[in-house]
Amino acid sequence: MLNFHIYPADTLRKDQVKDAQGLAQQTSVETQRLRDEVHHLSIIAQAMWELLREKNGTTDDELKKKITEVEFEKAKAYTASTLKCQKCARIVSIKSKTCLFCGEKIEHKEIFPM
Ligand SMILES: [Zn+2]
Repeated sequence: MLNFHIYPADTLRKDQVKDAQGLAQQTSVETQRLRDEVHHLSIIAQAMWELLREKNGTTDDELKKKITEVEFEKAKAYTASTLKCQKCARIVSIKSKTCLFCGEKIEHKEIFPM
């Protein structure tokens, strides 16, 4: 004879609510940690910029130009390292063997894949 555990619907919902509340709490703590880290990195970037400006005489316009160049290079590198899934058309890493979204095998057409 099969032995089933049957929980009252109310107990199951309470457990699910408790799990969701725990997950929400963890997410909130992680979000705050990331905000603190971004704030700290922002302070470091500003301090480094002020040192560079004071000691080298680098201007704000030169910094803005360099930021644009770096953004462009990053975007180019990102585009070069991605492929479009043949099945779901989502962007996947060139290093992937299968699509993370639909599981389709990724066809590598280049001779020397990254
Ligand atoms: Zn896909």
